[in-house]
Amino acid sequence: MQTSFSPAQLANPEIAVANDILRTCVHCGFCTATCPTFVTLGDELDSPRGRIYLIKDMLEQGRAAGPEEALHIDRCLSCLSCMTTCPSGVNYMHLVDHARVHINETYKRPFTDRLLRDVLARILPYPNRMRAAMFAARLGKPFGVLLAGDSMFVKRLRAMLSLAPARAAPPQNLGGTVHKPVGETKYRVALLAGCAQQALGPSINNATIALLTRLGVEVVVPAAAGCCGALVHHMGRHEEALTAARRNVTAWNNVTGLDAIVVNTSGCGTVLKDYGFMLRNDPIAADAAKISGMTKDITEFLLQIGYAPTREPPGLTVAYHAACSLQHGQQVTAAPKMLLRKAGFTVVEPADAHLCCGSAGTYNIMQPDIAVLLRRRKLDTLKVKQPDVIAAGNIGCLTQLAGDGLPTIHTVELLDWMAGGERPAGVPDRS
Ligand code: SF4
Ligand code: SF4
Repeated sequence: MQTSFSPAQLANPEIAVANDILRTCVHCGFCTATCPTFVTLGDELDSPRGRIYLIKDMLEQGRAAGPEEALHIDRCLSCLSCMTTCPSGVNYMHLVDHARVHINETYKRPFTDRLLRDVLARILPYPNRMRAAMFAARLGKPFGVLLAGDSMFVKRLRAMLSLAPARAAPPQNLGGTVHKPVGETKYRVALLAGCAQQALGPSINNATIALLTRLGVEVVVPAAAGCCGALVHHMGRHEEALTAARRNVTAWNNVTGLDAIVVNTSGCGTVLKDYGFMLRNDPIAADAAKISGMTKDITEFLLQIGYAPTREPPGLTVAYHAACSLQHGQQVTAAPKMLLRKAGFTVVEPADAHLCCGSAGTYNIMQPDIAVLLRRRKLDTLKVKQPDVIAAGNIGCLTQLAGDGLPTIHTVELLDWMAGGERPAGVPDRS
């Protein structure tokens, strides 16, 4: 694709990167076929190619974003399915990340939109605030039906209430803890405990730590490390995302003898693996690149160190839902399925495995109409395989797909169970 940025525009390193990305696109349109929003809405402006044109025009003109750019970029899930499909290697992730920053800095959203984004950015990255919000949402859940009207604000409030789990999870605050292995120490890793995950699914971290320590891995959770910054990053809140990234890079860099940074929330893993790019012009650029290089999804790490079950096969069929952040963002596709099969499960996959379930960070709150359609589609294609359990490697997907009659369990909880851990809550007993 030809571009026409002026030399003065190209002196801006962010525009220079965008220009390089735009020039790799040959507008072939292959990406449209695998884009969930284009497949669902059928509008070219809700396809990767359409969004690329919108971004190109906005940046080349050097103008503020308007409602049209905000509408179609906001509808993008950042699922990165288009990157997997693209034959030209267009780095859509870095392009749309930049567009989101530009929109955040130049477009004044409607008041309720700004308010909700602000509230989400101030609550979700903090486990204690998140727990308090979940408590309030549980109290408000029965009254959700009383929220009348079809305005987007009301739909978003309803979506928030419907996502709140029915029961409170036990409190978890892993910051500052060290978990010694059983027997000889073979590896030492830092675990990203996650922010929303500690409030919504503490059993995921518990299973991760139990499994790793059983395999001879010391697990460190530095007190100074916190939210990865993904939630604010995807809202275009650039400085907040960089602050989170710097804090985490420094915290992990201060831990000696680490073999890996292990992540069990794939949405966060994609961002950690991008810290090197995000902080490329920062004084700690080299440290950030090192941390990105050390980051591994829990399934990548387990495959590397060797995982073996100790229980008999449970006779269960697992429908594996590949989180977009894992399959498209990190290109980790085989490891989770190989491990689940090794653990003794029969693994099935939906026909539309490449398509997003509609979770995508805060997407299921901010874009409830599209998220509901994607959820229904994904649940239908998963359930047609008649599984006993749905497994995924990301708390967002597990929350999005919950509540439709099948247990949604993190992959690592199933692996831990088969290697001597506890049976995850809700998994049927077929023995
Ligand atoms: S597939 Fe790649 S090159 Fe083709 S239109 Fe989409 S982004 Fe551009
Ligand atoms: S990231 Fe996903 S939703 Fe966004 S343009 Fe690409 S395929 Fe479509």
